Amino acid sequence: MGSEEEKKVFDEEAASSLVKELRASFVNGKTRSFDWRVSQLKSMLKMIDKHETEIVAALRDDLSKPEHESTIYEIAMLRNSITLALKEIKHWIKPEKAIFFFQTVKTSLTTFPSSGEIVSEPLGVVLIISAWNYPFLLSLDPVVGAIAAGNALVLKPSEIAPATSSLLAKLVGEYMDFSSIRVVEGAVTETSALLEQKWDKIFYTGNGRVGRIVMAAAAKHLTPVLLELGGKSPVVVDSGINLQVSVRRIIAGKWGCNNGQACISPDYIITTKDYAPKLIDTLRNELEKFYGKNPLESKDFSRIVNSNHFTRLTKLLDEDKVSGKIVHGGERDKTNLKIAPTILLDVPRDSLIMSEEIFGPLLPILTVDKIEDSFGIINSGTKPLAAYLFTNNKKLRQQFVMNVSAGGLVVNDTTLHLAVHTLPFGGVGESGMGAYHGKFSFDAFSHKKAVLYRSFLGDAAVRYPPYTRGKLRL
Ligand code: NAD
Repeated sequence: MGSEEEKKVFDEEAASSLVKELRASFVNGKTRSFDWRVSQLKSMLKMIDKHETEIVAALRDDLSKPEHESTIYEIAMLRNSITLALKEIKHWIKPEKAIFFFQTVKTSLTTFPSSGEIVSEPLGVVLIISAWNYPFLLSLDPVVGAIAAGNALVLKPSEIAPATSSLLAKLVGEYMDFSSIRVVEGAVTETSALLEQKWDKIFYTGNGRVGRIVMAAAAKHLTPVLLELGGKSPVVVDSGINLQVSVRRIIAGKWGCNNGQACISPDYIITTKDYAPKLIDTLRNELEKFYGKNPLESKDFSRIVNSNHFTRLTKLLDEDKVSGKIVHGGERDKTNLKIAPTILLDVPRDSLIMSEEIFGPLLPILTVDKIEDSFGIINSGTKPLAAYLFTNNKKLRQQFVMNVSAGGLVVNDTTLHLAVHTLPFGGVGESGMGAYHGKFSFDAFSHKKAVLYRSFLGDAAVRYPPYTRGKLRL
């Protein structure tokens, strides 16, 4: 074990003094300055550029994440997010103005003459709690928004990805302003100590059970929360589509995203009874092309994060009413925590696998008589983080967009809405509240302050006593 200092528990007292320190830094105005924001974002970019190899290695340690996936989905996405913030920040921080009736913030005749302004002000000291599945991106992407908006912050990475957590603590300590940006590592004890404190916003990524704990803790201080949660994201597959392209896109979103351990990975498919055999054949063929005849030996998908999650997933697969429904895959390797891409057909709707978010490489296919019936199935569950439809039918597409409620929708692909910074990314209902990415990240960590500028002219008598009927007629 290390020194006394290292053994010291991060308790409520430590959390309280950390928040005090950061608040002092925020109050002295340091984080509000444009130059500070830009310098911190540039430092973060430099940190990634210099330590890309270590980041890839940590992700390999935590998840056996293939370098290809780490480079694209964790590193390049974060780099894009920082580069965009650096390019746009001067526009984002500008107040939205208006004089009389012409600009976006219009004022009314009641206040004439006047002008209005919406000023984005930093919230203060914010807490970011992140999850293990994309432990690098999901930790630092919200930090980009918090810095761009001028806040001091604490980041609490997930203890379930320990190599990335400790690398983040080391690198952030080296590259970022220690007086305003901190990493606290740890699990429930440390997070609970942090949650006791008064924050100006809590940004939480993870499951809904802990989301409820976060929200209850925040309520004590009337702290606003942004919750990035999960859910069962469905894929509706209509007939008459380019099946090979569709299947490849489903595979990329499922097994190609951390082996299904991604919040917007396809959780289950709905297709018609007639179309299911063709869909399954194509899935089998494409999976074999991508991962070979012996997928457990493939280096091109992540392992299951730990033995608890491995056991959880094998339980879903081994439930009596489900185990006979496997039509592809099912192989597992407990020692290396690997589960092969697995497809199941027509599992009962009341099975465990259909009752909870799968978050792994298992993909059940449900069948319906008419494809339109799928929308009722989706809407009968809790609102998912994402929903996908593959179709060439414009009417079906329109019905999907109008009738299916989810955090985000994609037609004819999976997961890619995440990469479009002009689209807000977030859930609805049980899949979360609030959104981020691009300017939405800046807005998530800003207060939109309403400011009205009045002249001494135009002092309407109607406001002042004595109140007379005559004044009402004015
Ligand atoms: P996790 O176990 O890493 O937990 C998330 C965070 O909560 C961690 O930092 C952890 O320390 C903290 N935590 C755990 N228990 C706690 C407690 N009792 N009190 C306080 N804090 C606690 O991650 P997870 O929850 O297993 O993540 C998977 C879930 O997250 C899935 O549901 C997935 O869909 C969702 N997710 C959502 C997004 C998104 O952007 N919407 C992204 C990734 C994951």
